[in-house]
Amino acid sequence: MVELRCRRCDSAAEGLDAAPLPGAVGQLVLAGTCGACWDLWREEQVKLINENKLSPAKAEDYEFLVDRMKGFLKLE
Ligand SMILES: [Zn+2]
Repeated sequence: MVELRCRRCDSAAEGLDAAPLPGAVGQLVLAGTCGACWDLWREEQVKLINENKLSPAKAEDYEFLVDRMKGFLKLE
């Protein structure tokens, strides 16, 4: 694990072992999100999926989740 400065909680913390998503957005998460904040996002994501009845396999819903994730993790 790599120590990084997490953009969401603004502390030096351990990052993830590997990019959790494919492509550039996965690298963005890997470089700027600690493990604890990623876990928080996972919980938030489950809520969003349930509340909005999303299917992450659908491109449109996936994009929506990536967008919310970037906001939640302060990656923008
Ligand atoms: Zn964090």
